[in-house]
Amino acid sequence: MMSRQERRARLRAAAQKAVKDGIAVQAQHGGLQETIGLAKILIDILEGSARERASDAAREANRVFDRSLDRYGTLETPACGRGCAFCCHTPVSATAPEVLLIATELRRLRMTQEMASRINAADEITREIGFVARYTFRHACPLLVDSICSVYTARPAACRGMNSTSADACRASFENEKIDITKVAEPLLLRGAHGYAMLAALQATGYPPEFYELNHALRLAIQTPDAEERWLDGQNIFVDVEKDHGEQNNFEREESRRMILDFADMARGKLPLPS
Ligand code: SF4
Repeated sequence: MMSRQERRARLRAAAQKAVKDGIAVQAQHGGLQETIGLAKILIDILEGSARERASDAAREANRVFDRSLDRYGTLETPACGRGCAFCCHTPVSATAPEVLLIATELRRLRMTQEMASRINAADEITREIGFVARYTFRHACPLLVDSICSVYTARPAACRGMNSTSADACRASFENEKIDITKVAEPLLLRGAHGYAMLAALQATGYPPEFYELNHALRLAIQTPDAEERWLDGQNIFVDVEKDHGEQNNFEREESRRMILDFADMARGKLPLPS
């Protein structure tokens, strides 16, 4: 049996690999060890003392996501490009740190006022429709300005993971044709890895391991004074936001729940990493 010291050494090595090379989702082990390594990194950030450590955690998870794609690439070439925004008309869900990072980014860009009314207006409409119905009711993300994402570097993993092999298929789907969009595999797998790492870190640090509907959550993150400080303090400012229960990383589904709990324990060094 592996000693506690050996377990911790393997965990540290997995975290270092995640930082250096990202997550090898197409490898035989599916990048499982680096995913848990990333969860450990996120736990360390969330338990640190930085004032914006929730935003910092999301930023680091995004950086590992992008690093993974730079390092390992994709088998198929994404058809996505600047100004192509069909997929920005479908519902988006994000974890609390991702939402708080976008609010931080909007403040940094001094776009809070201008954007607040767009987000409020979008939230009024999309909350009425509901998350699932929005897959067939096209409504633009309020962060989409002139067909460009205004928070591109801070966009959530849901958006990072959505890459199509055919812009024509996306257009047809947008125009309500019933058509299957073939997605590029690696970003989609990375979205899952990113999600599990983040939910495991949230679980391990006592925060709700949830995905929230973006428009409503972002509205609250912008309107609530000291939103990030409060959330870090344990006030769940997103408690009334619709959860994305269609996600694979759904804490209510037994299989996902078990996995998140195990990943949280592995990232704490309580359980050994999978070989
Ligand atoms: S956050 Fe950015 S990339 Fe994601 S749906 Fe909104 S505009 Fe598009």
